[in-house]
Amino acid sequence: MQPMDFSVYRRIVILTGAGISVASGLRPYRGAGGVWGDIDPQKAATRAILEQDPQKVWELCNEQRRQVLQSSPNPAHLALASLEASLHPTQQFLLVTQNVDGLHHRAGSQRVVALHGDICRTRCTSADCSLAAFVDTAAYTELPRCSRCGSPLRPDIVLFDEPLPVDAEWAVKRALRDCDLFLAVGTSGTVAPASNFVRSADYVGARTIFVNLEPMDPPNPYFHESLLGRAEEILPVLCGVSLSSDPG
Ligand SMILES: [Zn+2]
Repeated sequence: MQPMDFSVYRRIVILTGAGISVASGLRPYRGAGGVWGDIDPQKAATRAILEQDPQKVWELCNEQRRQVLQSSPNPAHLALASLEASLHPTQQFLLVTQNVDGLHHRAGSQRVVALHGDICRTRCTSADCSLAAFVDTAAYTELPRCSRCGSPLRPDIVLFDEPLPVDAEWAVKRALRDCDLFLAVGTSGTVAPASNFVRSADYVGARTIFVNLEPMDPPNPYFHESLLGRAEEILPVLCGVSLSSDPG
């Protein structure tokens, strides 16, 4: 595998999923070995549960927060941050992530859309409240209340049956509309959002690349190229960055 020449692209869109954070010690939320353990997320972290028993949502998120706080960005996150920093000011770039771990920000990425929010942020459950979402690493054993309006607070993540935030969706759509390079990393290429995004990117003639440990099953024809392997090994090579794995 050779480094890619990213300088020839005008607008780059990169989508990342759970696979990019595995090397940071974060397991996917669903499936065997998932963070949620034997708790079915479909039953637990839903809008209905938030309305009936918001503390139950916190019980799930406390553990997820704890794991995220113990993790740190891996060479895949760092390579994407380094790539963004190396681009010419006229090149547009958007990093879209399905992950709620905030590791792209911690790695130094600037232009990030976190489609599903950030587990280490908290916001008010009241849509009318003026309290802005804030960075929060607390584990709540009692239901936290908003200092402005007294409503329960909630983690600033998209629950399983909630729609994506409109502004995030719009930012991604706008970026995909005239992108000329689309990379999907550590996410299934056959289900949404990657499947929708790659179709949009292909439609406007972008080069499309799938980077994942597992091949697509079935293959998604909108991805023109496929690089199979660990994101933390592929991305540093692809982005042409040398990252020392020796902390010193
Ligand atoms: Zn409030």
